[in-house]
Amino acid sequence: MKVKVGINGYGTIGKRVATAVNQQDDMEIIGVTKTRPTYEAQLAIQMGYPLYVPADKVDDFKAAGLDIAGTVDDLISKADIIVDCTPGKVSGEYKEAYAKAGVKAIWQGGEDHSLTGISFNAAANYKESWGAQFSRVVSCNTTGLLRTLYPIDKNFKIKNGYVSLIRRSADPNDSKAGPINAIEPVVKIPTHHGPDVQSVLPWISIQTMAVKVPTTLMHIHTVVLELEKETTTEEIIKLLKETPRVKLVKAKDGVKSTAQIMDLAREIGRTRGDMFEIVVWEDGIKVVGNTLYYYQAVNQESDVIPENIDCIRSMCKLEEDPAKSIAKTNKAMGI
Ligand code: NAD
Repeated sequence: MKVKVGINGYGTIGKRVATAVNQQDDMEIIGVTKTRPTYEAQLAIQMGYPLYVPADKVDDFKAAGLDIAGTVDDLISKADIIVDCTPGKVSGEYKEAYAKAGVKAIWQGGEDHSLTGISFNAAANYKESWGAQFSRVVSCNTTGLLRTLYPIDKNFKIKNGYVSLIRRSADPNDSKAGPINAIEPVVKIPTHHGPDVQSVLPWISIQTMAVKVPTTLMHIHTVVLELEKETTTEEIIKLLKETPRVKLVKAKDGVKSTAQIMDLAREIGRTRGDMFEIVVWEDGIKVVGNTLYYYQAVNQESDVIPENIDCIRSMCKLEEDPAKSIAKTNKAMGI
């Protein structure tokens, strides 16, 4: 018996989670939701996903000639688990409906930790979501930070972390967001990213600052970590090479920017040209005294996708061993 997964909000994250779920052998998509009869709704139907819509929008979809399978409430009543990929601060609205139907639900990083009380990263705290009714996969940036901070802390103990985030201002399919010709600092310090890392690893001391820049491809983090245990540049390179979902590249091989990273993802045949791994520049890693410096890049549209799959496995008690779930997800997704 496969776990029945519904996607509420078939947008940037929702459509990727749908693809990844159907690549696994222990779960399947039973339906997705859209609020408007857009090209994405048409594509969902073409992909063979039963389409569910809000009760007050049924007529809009019928008028647009789209075949729907039922209402959002119908999908909620049929699913074992809903992956809620509605825009940030919207999905809290559905909590009551999920609770009433007794269905499990995963929210994304646009929601606050307080909505679920549990936040998820596969390597760092898989077991905290074990059997839970509600959990939350942290945002793209927080997932990126946790992927490298967790193994470094485990091996060398982070005393203090200082991270500057250079954030893409819009996703590639978004023609409304900006800035398009400016650099915009987030003046509230620390930005939400540091406290969000602490929602998974509460003992980590970390300060974060962020600026938005006019690009759509990826975020970049510049990371400075004071470590308690002595280490070397070579040891850190070895550790990150062995870390799942972290990929090392070299500027000296021509991977000088986010443009070449996304080209790499397309060339290796990834679905939608996605780079699910956090990409660290090997020749940009340096240990000086007890301080480690490195740069990493985050493909915001896709790094959280494998985490959603592992979160489903933990919440639905499909695999107790985090490492086995990570390996299974990676194999199925070609990571
Ligand atoms: P999106 O706007 O691309 O997609 C959201 C989808 O939800 C759309 O299909 C829209 O039709 C639907 N929707 C809108 N209002 C709804 C409502 N009231 N009820 C049901 N469905 C509704 O958004 P996204 O980028 O996929 O983001 C989804 C979540 O994932 C957010 O919490 C976001 O913060 C988080 N996230 C986004 C990114 C990213 O870079 N895009 C990365 C990581 C996490």
